[in-house]
Amino acid sequence: MTAPLIDPFARPISYLRVSVTDRCDFRCVYCMAENMTFLPKKDLLTLEELDRMCSTFVRLGVRKLRITGGEPLVRRDIMTFFRSMSRHLESGALDELTLTTNGSQLERFAGDLAAAGVKRINVSIDTLDEEKFARVTRWGRLPQVLRGLDAALAAGLKVKINAVALKGFNEDELFTLAEFCAARGMDLTWIEVMPMGDIGNEDRVGQYWSLKDLRARLEERFTLTDLAERSGGPARYVRIEETGQKIGFITPLSHNFCESCNRVRMTCTGQLYMCLGQEDMADLRPALRNHPSDDAPLEAAIRAAIGLKPEGHDFDYSRQRADGQVSRHMSHTGG
Ligand code: SAM
Ligand code: SF4
Repeated sequence: MTAPLIDPFARPISYLRVSVTDRCDFRCVYCMAENMTFLPKKDLLTLEELDRMCSTFVRLGVRKLRITGGEPLVRRDIMTFFRSMSRHLESGALDELTLTTNGSQLERFAGDLAAAGVKRINVSIDTLDEEKFARVTRWGRLPQVLRGLDAALAAGLKVKINAVALKGFNEDELFTLAEFCAARGMDLTWIEVMPMGDIGNEDRVGQYWSLKDLRARLEERFTLTDLAERSGGPARYVRIEETGQKIGFITPLSHNFCESCNRVRMTCTGQLYMCLGQEDMADLRPALRNHPSDDAPLEAAIRAAIGLKPEGHDFDYSRQRADGQVSRHMSHTGG
């Protein structure tokens, strides 16, 4: 038996999020600058290397794998990787294979994802207004994403919508987004904007809309019941009693969810970030590339990295400054 991965704070690590590319076909204003310099292709792990990396984590006890990016579905031939990972679902080693996507390529790939054993996906949509959607994503087109959503639902995928709460931008869509999701049987999770990466001239503190405020507004119209349930992620959920719909809140800034953190994140170059909000990372690529037919050094490198997982992050907006800011973009580590 291989010993499971346990960090210094006695948290078992069972959830790996993998960014398979830093590239994206959108340029969301809170995520990227308009002119991004992406990594040279040779720095990226190949699909075979990604497979070996993820399979090693699965062998060490990871039960949930979320594929993200950048936009994971713009990585060339990514379906080969999904099909390959499905063997761990079939063997029972992995409980869940899932992805977070902007939805732009779902019309093309929803059926293939379902066939590879993906059951649930997260799709990021911050607004249902075409003009606002074009503004916040810079390069995105809402109708294309909505066609992708329909394709995902038709393929039998369970969809959760993620919306970043943005002050003065989608505050007025609190109820329309909830109704849109309820009508399609989709859960909705609101995310507080996090201070990650240089985003050009955009103003961090100005973007920040506290979920405490958002929740209070929901309560003006609905009765909310807190749910004890956790999805293995950082979201906390409430149920709207009038409609039965579940709404999630990811509040890394106003709440500390670190004590129950069970996850680590790997970049598309094989750097392992033990905490989304800290700069510390371990580069797993040398152990992988220098020992192509021996997994022991890679396993040892992963264990050593988990042994350095910090207790929590230091994000803080409370002094009207984006404190605790980390220099990399969310698209680097994967949201
Ligand atoms: N491209 C895919 C997508 O947009 O869903 C996957 C990667 S994206 C980095 C993952 C999630 O992170 C998205 O829901 C996005 O809205 C969110 N995100 C990106 N930058 C963020 C930031 N600075 N603060 C909070 N959420 C952010
Ligand atoms: Fe691309 Fe996702 Fe970042 Fe938007 S949030 S720019 S879709 S990676």
